[in-house]
Amino acid sequence: MILAIASGKGGTGKTTLAVNLALLLAETMPVAFLDCDVEEPNAHLFLKPTIETCEQVALPEPIVDKARCNGCGKCAEICAFNAILAFGDQVLTFPELCHGCGGCALLCPEEAITEEPRGIGVLETGWADRIRFIHGRVDIGMPLATPVVKAVRKRAKDTDGLVIVDAPPGTSCPVVASVKDSDYCLLVTEPTPFGLNDLELAVGMARELKVPFGVVINRAGLGDDKVADYCAREGIPILLEVPFDRRYAACYARGGQLVREFPKLQDGLRKLWLRIRMEVGGNGAGAACHQR
Ligand code: SF4
Ligand code: SF4
Repeated sequence: MILAIASGKGGTGKTTLAVNLALLLAETMPVAFLDCDVEEPNAHLFLKPTIETCEQVALPEPIVDKARCNGCGKCAEICAFNAILAFGDQVLTFPELCHGCGGCALLCPEEAITEEPRGIGVLETGWADRIRFIHGRVDIGMPLATPVVKAVRKRAKDTDGLVIVDAPPGTSCPVVASVKDSDYCLLVTEPTPFGLNDLELAVGMARELKVPFGVVINRAGLGDDKVADYCAREGIPILLEVPFDRRYAACYARGGQLVREFPKLQDGLRKLWLRIRMEVGGNGAGAACHQR
């Protein structure tokens, strides 16, 4: 089972929930944790894994052989990202825009384009006690997070049991790549106008992807009831509410593990897991909320 944990905005407690659910469930089942927030991975600060492997994530970069190129411009026509341009007999490539799709090399009538791997980030794997840990990190300044997310996400196939995917915040391409093809998605939000706005965007994304989802409200009691009202109107189940508590924030700030320091939170997380299983099995109140 692949469980994605996402949020429309950063700072809602998404990683905190993902990490602590993984810690608790790993006591009774095999759990893999995939940190797909490749621009700013931070789950390792809480899980403290021992990293065993580190490999480069690379994309094929087109290299033009000027001696063979006849300047026909077909490569520039096919490129959807303007990563290769032809001016007369000059062909220029822009590696930072190239998505490595291979289209230009495939269509070049002179076979003037070859490809060489170009590193865009790293993928690290290891163990945090019983939790299989995998995360990616895109190189600084590299605007290509999605291929690194896909490299991390692919590792879900190599794992047993529950796979928890910590998605990046927002609803952009890297988030879609993280959530797509999950069995269930938890959308973490907070009861504020910003939280509601970004939740609505995240709900739209989950519906578009046809991934069943439910909501977790973090810092409950701080804001207003508009998130709860919205969920009631839309038939979206609220699976857990975590009350605001400054001690939780302090624990997070020093990289602590909430389920260890505050065992009373374990009950709520166990009930959350049961609710998720019911929803995935089609027996929950919001089992069809993604189909609207
Ligand atoms: S498609 Fe090939 S031959 Fe035509 S401009 Fe591009 S590199 Fe040159
Ligand atoms: S590999 Fe794809 S994205 Fe890169 S330059 Fe060629 S067509 Fe454009």
